[in-house]
Amino acid sequence: MAKMKALAKTRPAPGAEIIEVDIPQPGPGELLVKNKAVSICGTDVHIYEWDNWAQSRIKTPMIFGHEFAGEVMEIGPNTQTHVKVGDIVSGETHIYCGHCYLCKMGNEHICKDVKLRGIDCTGCFAEYLTMPANTAWVNPKSLAIEHMSAQEPMGNAVHTVFEGGDVKGQSVAIFGCGPIGACAAAICKASGATQIFAMDISDYRLNLAKSMGATTVINSKQKDPVKEIMAATNNQGVDVFLEMSGAAPIYEQGFKILRPGGRAGLLGVAKDKVPIDITNGIVFKQARVFGINGRRIWGTWETAAKLLAEGKVDMGKLVTHKFPMSKFAEAFEIMKSGNSGKIVMYPDK
Ligand SMILES: [Zn+2]
Ligand SMILES: [Zn+2]
Repeated sequence: MAKMKALAKTRPAPGAEIIEVDIPQPGPGELLVKNKAVSICGTDVHIYEWDNWAQSRIKTPMIFGHEFAGEVMEIGPNTQTHVKVGDIVSGETHIYCGHCYLCKMGNEHICKDVKLRGIDCTGCFAEYLTMPANTAWVNPKSLAIEHMSAQEPMGNAVHTVFEGGDVKGQSVAIFGCGPIGACAAAICKASGATQIFAMDISDYRLNLAKSMGATTVINSKQKDPVKEIMAATNNQGVDVFLEMSGAAPIYEQGFKILRPGGRAGLLGVAKDKVPIDITNGIVFKQARVFGINGRRIWGTWETAAKLLAEGKVDMGKLVTHKFPMSKFAEAFEIMKSGNSGKIVMYPDK
């Protein structure tokens, strides 16, 4: 049987290694995809470092990774799909059942039995992967493969920015300027937001957010975002608060600078319970608060595709590093340093 290289967690400990395994065979309802580019997500860093969350969730040995773009090589037996051999696809990470109550109500992304690629089942850090055909997104061939791979996290940003409203003519505060936060700044800019405040503790990431569309960047280590934002909005606060860091102190700040009647989108995953002044921060403000999980399937992808097709979000700025997968250790070190946007790896190199 033909073999392939894959990046796997081979044991329950920090790190990962390149292994050689059989090229998988697509079963019924599946596609076989030859990966051309994969990208590293914050989640992959948790898995790589083997933190508490990873220890509680990941079963080794496992090939991890969930952001990719690749060519469809084969379609499994008895597969009903619009996808064709030769298509260049990316994948929705949330693998959904399609028949539970939530799926039937159009909420496939929070399916009762959702499995996350590269977390609950085999991931994409490999030369080939098999995937359910109903999780494939066919890319226009005009898009760079590195940018196709980064559409999945871009989708998180799209989902958070637009869930529950528009940003046209609005002021927005984005906390956390990793690739998703930086992307959110670009999406807000493209969609007519007026003031776009971006907060982080890394100057590298603040610069990235600025270059992609933030109008004001604030290093929260050096300045108090609450003071700065209130001063810049005539003490009114912002229309929209986007939480993309998961850092516990941010929530209190965010609900302070949100104007009454404003909207909050919470995407960041906090490690611990977060103290918030619900009475003053949410209830009396009549704030609208949205928890955000993944992407709407496929509404979010459609919106992201339109923004990319119109050149509204410059993915060239977002993808800051490219590595052959054999140099994964270097790639993960740079991810951990915080001095990067999206990092892409080439699985066949
Ligand atoms: Zn991701
Ligand atoms: Zn379901």
